[in-house]
Amino acid sequence: MRRGLILGACLGVCASAQVSPTRLVTAYPAFLARLDGNTLLWKDDTSMPLTAGRVFTSPADRLDHPDLRELLRQPYPACTPLHAPAYAQDPGRARPAVFFGKMYGSSPAAVKAKLVVVNWFGQPLMFSRVNGAADALRAVEHELTAQPALRKYLTPSAGTYLWRVVAGSTRQSAHSWGIAIDLNTRYSAYWEWSGYREFQHGIPYANRVPQAVVWAFERHGFVWGGRWYHSDTMHFEYRPELSGC
Ligand SMILES: [Zn+2]
Repeated sequence: MRRGLILGACLGVCASAQVSPTRLVTAYPAFLARLDGNTLLWKDDTSMPLTAGRVFTSPADRLDHPDLRELLRQPYPACTPLHAPAYAQDPGRARPAVFFGKMYGSSPAAVKAKLVVVNWFGQPLMFSRVNGAADALRAVEHELTAQPALRKYLTPSAGTYLWRVVAGSTRQSAHSWGIAIDLNTRYSAYWEWSGYREFQHGIPYANRVPQAVVWAFERHGFVWGGRWYHSDTMHFEYRPELSGC
């Protein structure tokens, strides 16, 4: 009982609970060579510190200026039963733009040059071919084709690539890199629609996306916005350093 309480109190906060940095190297082998202490070494002989040394002043500051340690701070509970996330649990929502831009492109033109068409239940969608992202989305579509009852949640997709910042912020959206897909808005819930402020306590959780859909994406390396306290249940993004079963 006591052990359970301690683990519960620690979830996603304790240093020991954070995701191992080696998962970055495993997830992105085309770009990353290895870790050397606090430094991530790229195959193009450049390097990036895991910790930038910034002293965060607020939860929002962590999302505005995340380093790689911040990206890895909260483990993502892939392929576990769906439940309302705890306060401020947003695993995958911190995205260092320099890190993702270096792989997927740091301008609209650079990203677009790496997009390919993915057939999403008859709807052509643009997705990045980098890191196998487009192939992963194709695999999700293939897997879910066998379950026609789920189709209404999946189509029409509300979009994939769009170079933009997250609404109301200066943060680059994962849609900018062509690695995110929004499903049918009709069955979706987005925290901002509730009228709450970011990090306000009590943001309601109202998911209608079935677990079978979420797990199919997670098996292929996507994280789901419905596992965030700031819930975005139409949103999936390719983040193999955090997801996968
Ligand atoms: Zn989205």
